[in-house]
Amino acid sequence: MKTLRLILGDQLDRDLPSLRDIDLAQDIALIAEVMAEVTYVKHHKRKVAFLFSAMRHFAKSLEDDGIQVSYRRLDDPENVGSLAGEIISSISTFSPDRIVVTAPGEYRLVSEMLSWQDQFNLPVIILPDTRFLCSLDDFSAWADGRKSLRMEFFYREMRKRYNILMDKDKPIGDKWNYDADNRQPPKAGLHIPTPSQFKPDAITVEVLALVEKRCADHFGQLDAFDFAVTREQAMSVLNQFIMERLPYFGTYQDAMVTDEPWMYHSHIGLYLNAGLLRPLEVITAVEAAYHAGAAPLNAVEGFIRQILGWREFVRGLYWLKMPEYAEFNFLQASKPLPDFFWTGKTDMRCLSQSIQQTDAFSYAHHIQRLMVLGNFALLAGLSPKEVNEWFLIVYVDAYEWVVLPNVSGMALFADGGFLASKPYAAGGAYINRMSDYCKSCYYNVAEKSGEKACPFNYLYWNFLARNREKIGGNPRLGMIYRTFDRMSPEKQATVTIDADRFIAKLA
Ligand SMILES: Cc1cc2nc3c(=O)[nH]c(=O)nc-3n(C[C@H](O)[C@H](O)[C@H](O)COP(=O)(O)OP(=O)(O)OC[C@H]3O[C@@H](n4cnc5c(N)ncnc54)[C@H](O)[C@@H]3O)c2cc1C
Ligand code: SF4
Repeated sequence: MKTLRLILGDQLDRDLPSLRDIDLAQDIALIAEVMAEVTYVKHHKRKVAFLFSAMRHFAKSLEDDGIQVSYRRLDDPENVGSLAGEIISSISTFSPDRIVVTAPGEYRLVSEMLSWQDQFNLPVIILPDTRFLCSLDDFSAWADGRKSLRMEFFYREMRKRYNILMDKDKPIGDKWNYDADNRQPPKAGLHIPTPSQFKPDAITVEVLALVEKRCADHFGQLDAFDFAVTREQAMSVLNQFIMERLPYFGTYQDAMVTDEPWMYHSHIGLYLNAGLLRPLEVITAVEAAYHAGAAPLNAVEGFIRQILGWREFVRGLYWLKMPEYAEFNFLQASKPLPDFFWTGKTDMRCLSQSIQQTDAFSYAHHIQRLMVLGNFALLAGLSPKEVNEWFLIVYVDAYEWVVLPNVSGMALFADGGFLASKPYAAGGAYINRMSDYCKSCYYNVAEKSGEKACPFNYLYWNFLARNREKIGGNPRLGMIYRTFDRMSPEKQATVTIDADRFIAKLA
């Protein structure tokens, strides 16, 4: 049966379900660069360039394996601009008997695909995406009947199921979680290794020129593009991380240093999410480094938890709660995104650093995303829809399945607590402890009120006061509310005045 096999831009894995039983004699793999996918939100230029270059390299590797590939470039005059349009033109060229695709990672695309069978008058087979370690059925079964879904319990099940860092039925070292040893502030004189860099080859150079031309009005910079664009290069990023950064990953996981965007993080999220790396191979390589004595348990456990725990958990949660998840706005936050999210022009040093790095590299590490950008959006009451869209646009590893739970669930508490047991809200003291940003900021982190006071300080109390009806009963916030209640009425009124003045200026 002649089959047209559609491969999406984030499915660049030779072991993809829709490629496994390919008939080399007659099947066709269709890969298409289409404007509809580039502009449904206007993705960061670097993200578009990474995906197009990786897609072109992947297509070449499939051809080297003897697979017939129909590759549609964005600048091909015949390009019709949408996935459905490209399938129609492939049907007329190749006359397939059926279409096979691996389930996409975004709800909007699944909804579109469900209409294809009728639209094309051909069988359309959507295969489950087996590139994750917990199937959607297994996640639903785990979630079924639980009052609250907590990553930590899910993660323990996954450790047991895959026998990762286990000593028979017990966790190695007798503890499941070593965060108590992690999350140190940065200290002076840290040596932070240079990340892996890859000089653009001819394919990437061509893609960069195309993206510069076609995405001129998109956010972000293309200068000095150096991401991996093949599986081999992505493997070398992973290996370099394990050798040079992994030993310090846990200790400095939450630390932020001026002009050091990469810190000791792995920078592999983009490769995992696009299919160039597989989660289990990453986890086993990191576990092997522990057994070889190359990295301590706190670093290795902390890192593995991110992939075996958080990554799988947020994906399961997304599919469990879609399409409602996209509409959640528990705190009824509605302020528009301030312009400085696009320019980085703000006197708040922590925000300007995080946004400028995002503009330059399409990257910010977890704590910049959560405790600087997300925390600000939470405290200022920004609209979850606008914040989600910004995160989906600006990060090279961003797809809705991972953005929505992280933004609406973890950062904004917009899901009312499916993902987090309390809002991740913090004042300036947290950012000051974990970074050196405050030293060069216009605002004074030690001041609690007035024009020069760090805005995180009064926005924090204002957030708690404003949302008391919704979150005041949360037992994990009890002590904080008691502290607020001990403030004098004058001090409480000052919080409101400062916050109102600041928010009015944002508008
Ligand atoms: C508001 C917000 C938005 C985020 N948006 C994205 C996004 O668009 N895409 C994305 O992949 N991750 C996202 N994350 C999770 C995390 O911040 C990134 O995965 C990480 O910063 C990527 O950099 P890294 O590869 O250097 O990761 P490392 O810090 O080295 O971590 C290793 C890997 O663990 C996984 N991981 C860690 N934390 C999470 C998490 N919370 N959810 C899912 N996977 C996780 C990623 O695959 C990551 O590559 C977001 C987190 C927050 C709080
Ligand atoms: S003083 Fe406040 S606004 Fe400035 S960098 Fe520190 S936390 Fe950010």
